[in-house]
Order: sequence, then C-alpha cells, then structure tokens
Amino acid sequence: MTSAFSGSAAVTHFINGTAVPATSGRSQAVYNPTTGAVARQLQLASVQDVDLAVASAQAAFPAWADSPPLRRARVMFKFLELLNKHRDDIAAMITAEHGKVFTDAQGEVTRGIDVVEFACGIPQLLKGDYTEQVSTGIDNWTMRQPLGVVAGITPFNFPFMVPMWMAPLAIATGNCFILKPSERDPSPSLFIAELLKQAGLPDGVFNVVQGDKVAVDALLNHPDVKALSFVGSTPIAQYIYETGARNGKRVQALGGAKNHMVVMPDADIDQAVDALIGAAYGSAGERCMAISVAVLVGDAADKIIPKLAERARTLKIKNGMALDAEMGPIVTREARDRIENYIGIGVEEGATLVVDGRGHKVAGLENGFFTGGTLFDNVKPTMRIYKEEIFGPVLACVRAHDFAEAVQLVNDHEYGNGVACFTSDGNVAREFARRIQVGMVGINVPIPVPMAWQGFGGWKRSLFGDMHAYGEEGVRFYTKQKSVMQRWPASIGKGAEFVMPTSR
Ligand code: NAD
Repeated sequence: MTSAFSGSAAVTHFINGTAVPATSGRSQAVYNPTTGAVARQLQLASVQDVDLAVASAQAAFPAWADSPPLRRARVMFKFLELLNKHRDDIAAMITAEHGKVFTDAQGEVTRGIDVVEFACGIPQLLKGDYTEQVSTGIDNWTMRQPLGVVAGITPFNFPFMVPMWMAPLAIATGNCFILKPSERDPSPSLFIAELLKQAGLPDGVFNVVQGDKVAVDALLNHPDVKALSFVGSTPIAQYIYETGARNGKRVQALGGAKNHMVVMPDADIDQAVDALIGAAYGSAGERCMAISVAVLVGDAADKIIPKLAERARTLKIKNGMALDAEMGPIVTREARDRIENYIGIGVEEGATLVVDGRGHKVAGLENGFFTGGTLFDNVKPTMRIYKEEIFGPVLACVRAHDFAEAVQLVNDHEYGNGVACFTSDGNVAREFARRIQVGMVGINVPIPVPMAWQGFGGWKRSLFGDMHAYGEEGVRFYTKQKSVMQRWPASIGKGAEFVMPTSR
C-alpha cells in the first residue's frame, strides 16, 4: 500500500493530524540494509518542531481526557481492524528498513497488535475501587486519571511492536502521545499515525516527531511532557531516567541485555540446540530478548557445541523477503562493523572461535549489511564479549560445572532482562525460577516475552524506573490515582473536629 506519508522519499513529522516538514534543515539517510542503498531521507526535528508537537498534544488533551473510556475503546477497536487489514504491509515496511526476515516481522506485528487488543478493554482496566461506609455516612472510592502529554522514545529493533507497547495504552487511558521513533526505520511510525487518524482519533492525540538527541532532549526538558517511556540501550536509558526524573517526570526506561540460556545435562539436547539457534540468530541477534550467552552445564557442552556449529555455519542468510530466509542483514553498516569488531576482540581475549561470521557475502547483494552467524566456545566471564551487549548474531558459550555455578553467573551479570533454563527436572526448573535475578524467565522457553496483559520489564541495568511496559503496569504508568471521600449534609455532625478522623 502506498500513502501520502509512508510512501514518499522524505520522512517528515506527523503533528496535529497531518504531515509536517522539519524546520531544522538537518536530515539523515534511511537505508535498505538488504541492498545497502539509501531508501529515504529522514528530516530531523528542531526544538521548535518538538514545541509544536507538544502544543498540539496539549491542546487536544482536555477533550480527549474528558471523552468516555468506551468511546476511546471504540477508536482502538477500529484501529485494530485497520491493523489486521494491513498486517503484511507493515511487516514488509519493517523488513525493508530493519532487514529482519518477513515472517519474523509478521510475528512482531502480531505481538504489537496484542497490546491494541488489550487496550480495547480500557473501560474495565480503568475501573476504580469503591468502599461503602468507610465511616458512618462516608464512602470512599478511587479513580485513575490521565497524566496529560506523554512521550515514547523507541529503538530500531522493533519499529512497530515497541511503539505499540506504549501508544495504545497511553491513548486509551486518555493521554495525548508523542512518538520519537528510531532514525533507522521510521516508516511504520507514520503508518501507525495514518491508521489512527482513519480510526477516528482526534487530531493532536497521536503525534510523531522524527529526530535524534535534539528531539529527545527537547522532550526531556519540556515542562508540558508529564511522562516518558523509553526503550533502547542502557547508557541512554539511564540518561533518560536521570534527566526525566530530575525534571519531575514519570519515567520508565528499558535498557540493554545479555540474556543467558542455561542448558542442564538432563535437557533434551536437540530441543536445546533448536532453541539456541533460533534465539541467538533470529532477527540477526538484534532482539533485546535474544540469547547471546549459552551456559552449558557439565557434559552438555561437548554434546551441544558440534551441533550448534553445524547449524550456525548453514544458516540461510538472505534477503528477508525470501520465504525460506532464516537471517537477514544487520540494520546499518556501522552496526555490522561494530559486531565484527567484537568478534576480533573475542579472538584477542582468547575465546575459541568455532564459527566466524565475519565477511559473509550474499550473492547479488554484495553491498548489503550482512554478517554470518558467529559461535564462540570457552568464553570466560572476564571477557568483554561476555560482559558487553554485542547486539548481533554472536553466541558466546560458557562452560559451567554445575547448576549453582550457572545461577551465580547469571546473577552476577549487570543485565537482567531475560533468561532461560532448559531441563527436564521439575525441581531444577522451580529453583531456577525462584533464585534467578532476572525479570523475565523461560523454563524450556528461550524467549519468554510476556503477553500483552502481563507486562514486560527486566531487572538490574535492563530497566530504570518502577513500572514495566504494557499490561496493568502500563495502565498504572499512564494514569494517576485519585481517592475521593464523600459524605452528605445529613451525616455531618455539628462542630469543628480537631482530632485525626477515624472510622466510627
Ligand atoms: P539506542 O539507545 O541507540 O536508541 C534508542 C532511542 O534513543 C532512539 O530513538 C534514539 O534516537 C535515541 N537516542 C540515541 N542516542 C541518544 C542520545 N545520546 N540522547 C538521547 N536519545 C538518544 O538503541 P537502538 O540501537 O535503537 O536499539 C538497540 C538497543 O535497545 C539495545 O541495547 C537493546 O537491548 C535495547 N532494547 C531493549 C529492549 C527492552 O525491552 N529492554 C527492547 C528493545 C531494544
């Protein structure tokens, strides 16, 4: 499908229901990573552009906040219908700018749509608590009200799903939203804006500002932005959290990861190999829930490494639109070079390079940003390739003597986003789930991304802030609780009271 905003060469803002060009005069190329060619030019926001978006959102807020939740839910239902109609258009848009394979992009679209389905139930989710007769003649209830203008800053690796972690709930709860998508793959954000408009969302309730640090800092410093949701790398997440909190804003900032998968000697080895290959190399390892470390316990290592090597060497790496593709290109040339540089660092540090993905070429796509699947064995916790997030198709295998050592490794790591344990022993599984210091745990599930109603969030340096994304925590993040206590003149006694009121 072509459209006014998402089909043209220039990527503009979307403010107050229409495409708005940037005033900064600055722009940046958006690439097709499969061919290496420039696909579009992204216009980068100035501070004035952000001010315009915030002003338009602020103007739309009173009427939108005042509209009944059921009316807001009906917009969500219509949006859901449009998203379902355009699923494959969105998936193709993702593959074109991100590079991930089309079938994986379809999965991303589905997981984003899940949150819209959850947001359709907003009247139920906004119900408060009511207590009759907290004292004689007095009732007490709570309600949840929107914050005002809220913003979301999102990463390149899920250009549709991560904005959907934020915007549907922010809007359905009565806020006005400003999305600052990644500069690398901005097209889905404009398509979301178009579909929301078609769904009947009033102008100004959902806005998109394209940009870089200038736009982010303008949002962080704007007094009318009441809350910020961020998903991206840990240094930026920490910066957003600290700056936003200093400026009096509510902030949830989800950061980077180094997800381990522990394979116990009693695990089904073939199932564990399938899980590791999919979770390490799927989406070229550019997932915050990708498995980048395999902790192989006892004799599991000698059984698994040869099988992993064989599979990593024969990954089907090609244009993501090919139906049998298992891995596409890396998002940018710089990211590909950074990943390949890390492989060199691993070799220098003394890890055993079992499969070297560097320099991988795909016939006919020689300028694409491809790299192959890489496998390291004998990785040690002191090495940079163990400690740092590489964010590419590089799997580091660490050998552990026993379960206790494996758990200690995971718990000592600075990140705590996702983790998995493969075992056929129920007691080991139970102990693992209880003792592990990580926010999202999979037992024989390599990528345990929680469903739309359960909420997503890591621990340690993978999340700054108190509340997870989406689910009921998402509803709480985008609303303030108000408590109302009420009585009527017939139950008011005579005279001033000087003591602390208590129930009577
Ligand atoms: P990134 O941190 O480079 O960028 C994320 C966003 O922050 C983008 O919109 C970008 O424009 C903005 N940004 C970048 N530098 C900035 C700066 N100096 N000041 C202000 N804003 C800045 O992340 P990325 O490369 O787009 O995405 C990959 C990272 O995101 C990985 O670290 C990955 O683990 C993480 N991630 C985490 C989760 C999660 O749920 N925890 C989910 C997806 C991705």
